[in-house]
Amino acid sequence: MKTGIENKIAVVTGGSHGIGRAIAIALAKEGAHVIINYHRDDKGAQNAIDEITAQGRRSKAIKADVSNYSAVTNMMKDIKNEFGSIDILVNNAGITRDNLLMRMKVEEWQEVINTNLSGVFNCSKAVVIGMMRQKSGKIVNISSISGVTGVPGQINYSSSKGGIISFTKALAKELAPLGINVNAVAPGFIETKMIDGIPVQNKKMALDLIPFKRFGKPEEVASLVVFLVSEASSYITGQVINIDGGLVT
Ligand code: NAD
Repeated sequence: MKTGIENKIAVVTGGSHGIGRAIAIALAKEGAHVIINYHRDDKGAQNAIDEITAQGRRSKAIKADVSNYSAVTNMMKDIKNEFGSIDILVNNAGITRDNLLMRMKVEEWQEVINTNLSGVFNCSKAVVIGMMRQKSGKIVNISSISGVTGVPGQINYSSSKGGIISFTKALAKELAPLGINVNAVAPGFIETKMIDGIPVQNKKMALDLIPFKRFGKPEEVASLVVFLVSEASSYITGQVINIDGGLVT
C-alpha cells in the first residue's frame, strides 16, 4: 500500500503509551515526523520519541492537558512554528472513570467529557485553519465501541465516545469541500493499561463474546489509523470503523 505520508507532520495526542504510542511509531515507520502529546508519563513520552528518532524521523514530546483549551492552542502554535504545518491529527487521548449513573460523581462525568470529547474539539479547532489553508489534511478520532452501543457503568465514557462519532460526521461534512478527511475508529477490547483494571471474570465474559476469542493489539489499531491517513483512503470521510474482533456487527 502506498501511504503517501512520507515527511508529513503528524500529531498524536496521548502518545506516551498504549494505542497512541503504537500509532505514533507506525506513522513514523511510514515516514512521517511525529509529535507526541502526553499528560503525565514523561518517561513513556521520551521512550516513544527515542524510537521515532531512531528511525530517522523528527519528533518531539509536548506535555499538555487536551482538556485545557489554551494549553492545546499554545501547543499547536509551537508545533506549527517549529515544524511548519500540521498535516495529520490523531485525537487519541482518553480516560475512563466507570461507575453506575446512580453513583457517578459529577466530577467523574466532567473529567471524562472534558478529556475525551472537549479534548477532540480543542485539538481539532487548533489545527483546522492551517489544514483549510493548505487544502489538505487528515483527522482520525479514536472513539470506542462503548460509544457505538452504549455500555452500562460507562455513561460518561459512552457519551463522550458517542459524541466523538457525531463530531466526526459533522466535521467531515464541513471539511470535505477543502479536501480534508475526518474519520473515527471504534476499538473494542485492546490490550493496554486501560483494560488492565477490568476484573478477570468480566474479561472472560468479554472473550466469550468476541468472535476472534482474543483481545486486539495496539498495533492492529495503528494499522487502521495508518490506512485512514494514507492516500489509499482518499475517498473515505465521515466514517466510523469498528476494530473489535467482530464483537459489534
Ligand atoms: P491508555 O490509558 O494506555 O492511554 C491513554 C492515553 O491518553 C495516555 O497516553 C494518556 O497520557 C493520555 N491522556 C489521558 N488524559 C489526557 C489528557 N488530559 N491530556 C493528554 N493526554 C491524556 O489507554 P489506551 O487504551 O491506549 O487508550 C487510547 C484511546 O483508545 C483512548 O481514547 C481510549 O478511550 C481508546 N480506546 C481504548 C480501548 C481499549 O480497550 N484499550 C478501547 C476503545 C477505545
